[in-house]
Amino acid sequence: MGARDRDWGPGAGRAAMEPDCKRRKMEEPADPPWEALLVLPELESQEIELTPAYAAPVLLRTETSRLVRELSAARPLTELPHLKRVRAQGGTQPLEVLLCPAGPLPGASRTLAELLPDGRVDVRGLGEPFLVQVPARAPLTRPQFEEAARHWPTAFHENKRTSQALAGRLFTPQDKAAMGAHMEHAVRAARRGAELGMVPAGAAVVDPATGQVLAVGHDCRNGLHPLLHAAMVCIDLVACGQGGGAYSYLDYPACSFLPPLPGDGLPYICTGYDLYLTREPCVMCAMALVHSRIQRVFYGVSSPHGTLGTGYRLHGRQDLNHRYEVFRGILEGPCRRLGQEPAAR
Ligand SMILES: [Zn+2]
Repeated sequence: MGARDRDWGPGAGRAAMEPDCKRRKMEEPADPPWEALLVLPELESQEIELTPAYAAPVLLRTETSRLVRELSAARPLTELPHLKRVRAQGGTQPLEVLLCPAGPLPGASRTLAELLPDGRVDVRGLGEPFLVQVPARAPLTRPQFEEAARHWPTAFHENKRTSQALAGRLFTPQDKAAMGAHMEHAVRAARRGAELGMVPAGAAVVDPATGQVLAVGHDCRNGLHPLLHAAMVCIDLVACGQGGGAYSYLDYPACSFLPPLPGDGLPYICTGYDLYLTREPCVMCAMALVHSRIQRVFYGVSSPHGTLGTGYRLHGRQDLNHRYEVFRGILEGPCRRLGQEPAAR
């Protein structure tokens, strides 16, 4: 770990970085291997929303390309640009062509003359129109695409990174080893905080560009301030390392930070950094992470009032001006056992 040959700032505890796991190793049961599971943002995790549209069978197959051409000119699918115009139901079934959206209050059956009254489409070759439920918006993930395509053929611009993450192929074994080591810092801090009567939650901030651990902290809500949850402590410790910070952690040696090297350009608090949290953060902490421009959050276990997957998904909202990636499940076993362990003294 590169942090070892650097000086730690005031209030920093080198001891925080020393393994205290030796005495625990013997009593801990072997944990099953953990997986980093992508926590999808809201839109990506929702079920595909459907909207009614009118379609009609193409009874004269030779008319298909003309019908598609005329429909595209007269009834462009402006609101449903992700939908293909034609679908093949397979076998001896006729092709079906999408005529137009049905609007919010679709009536009962409509005739071709009612739906295409202006004569811009020669309806020769078309059968009786019918209502069909089609995907209301473009799919964002492969599972959404597969669901959407069951209703009507849909275009899909795959986000390779999301697909890799969903398939569990985003991280190499080396990545996972580093992630586990970073979470170990958070777990150890949580244990040391718990020994001082704190809520057993820990956090660590890492610069993924260098692998350096910039700050390690534990929940201080029972000590310094009721709002100093582990994530808030860690953000404040990063700020301390940048010459700011609101609190002094002298009484909590497991809360430590690494000042940047002279000449380092200072980012906006946590820009580009990774945060490791033993458990899913609350809404205050998740919003603080939006404000501090964190890049990725890795947490161990979900929590009942969590807002990065459990209650809300604050990390990927289109109406906030910063979004970050979230993965859960890192060192799940040790994170789950925090607070359930016998006191070390
Ligand atoms: Zn919190």
